[in-house]
Amino acid sequence: MALALSSRHGCVLQSEIRNMSIECSRIGGINLSQGVCDTPIPDAVVRGASESIATGVNTYTHYAGLFRLREAIARKQLKFSGMQCDPENEIVVSAGATGALYCAFQTLLDPGDEVIVFEPYYGYHISTLLAAEAVPLYVTLEPPGWTFSLEELERTVTPKTRGIILNTPANPSGKVFSAAELSQLADFADTHDLFVFTDEIYEHFIYTGHEHRSFATLPGMRERTITVSGASKTFSVTGWRIGYAICDARWAKTIGYFNDLVYVCAPAPLQAGVARGMQELGDDYYIGLAREYEARRDRFCDALSCAGLPPYIPDGAYYVLADVSRVPGSTGKEKAMHILNTTGVASVPGSAFFQGGKGNTTVRFCFAKEDGVLDEAMGRLQLLA
Ligand code: GLN
Repeated sequence: MALALSSRHGCVLQSEIRNMSIECSRIGGINLSQGVCDTPIPDAVVRGASESIATGVNTYTHYAGLFRLREAIARKQLKFSGMQCDPENEIVVSAGATGALYCAFQTLLDPGDEVIVFEPYYGYHISTLLAAEAVPLYVTLEPPGWTFSLEELERTVTPKTRGIILNTPANPSGKVFSAAELSQLADFADTHDLFVFTDEIYEHFIYTGHEHRSFATLPGMRERTITVSGASKTFSVTGWRIGYAICDARWAKTIGYFNDLVYVCAPAPLQAGVARGMQELGDDYYIGLAREYEARRDRFCDALSCAGLPPYIPDGAYYVLADVSRVPGSTGKEKAMHILNTTGVASVPGSAFFQGGKGNTTVRFCFAKEDGVLDEAMGRLQLLA
């Protein structure tokens, strides 16, 4: 038999987010494509990690994470979402939220199981499902409010559907699911007996008039919900890879075993740094973060409007989809490349967030940048006006 790649290899092509980062560094541009937040790391987090390296927190931790981090996660979860969880049995710290989702899908999905995903979606959700040989089913979020229809959900679900992914605040749309929408989804999950895999990594990036609710706190949803979040965005440590899953002990046990198998554990001193941050940072930090990013959102969206790229104003997270219909190019990729070549600002083609050739008239910009960098990018985008 000839040497060849596995039949599964197609699900892990280099992501368009990474492609655009590479194109960007080729020309020394400003990278507003990959959601690398390069804003400062809180002091407590840095000290927690560096002191841990110095004092010897450098070997394997428990596969589900340092107990002090799991305790800190449990306290934070209770404080911000009102959700009770047992740090001993219901939390698995993993290599980023993506690692936690990977382990959760491996634990709870069989080949051929279907999972509903809202579109536009974050491509890593799809690839992670495909890596578990699960089948994504798509339900449209309709702009400008990114609303979904219950009829479409009911049309899409089949007896083979086992789960739904709920990313709120959402990447790339910035949609924050409302209380009414969450309760519709709770009824839907209950009726069809679905797991709900959440991705709440942007939980603290919430703008005026909106509120983040953890789906697991809705009546009756705790057992079927795998709550996923992490420190990457909240503490600006995307490269540290500290994420976690919170769920019923029956699922958490095996999610932990998969985590042990793939990663053994998340990086030990970095877990300690995140624990310190969660212990020491108070409400003012989280409120300040949301305000700071809301100001960035407002300035950046104004700049997009002035440049003739109307934004779909996000209610949360730190991305904005902009309408680039008038930019030359017939595909999203051509338009993103035109923007990069003309202005030196990298974005992600909208087609990366849709299936079947949709999304060609939008691109996604990330505004998680220090003000000076963002100002420079906003100035350069005016070349398109
Ligand atoms: N979540 C970030 C984004 O959407 C980072 C993606 C990545 O590099 N995997 O851009």
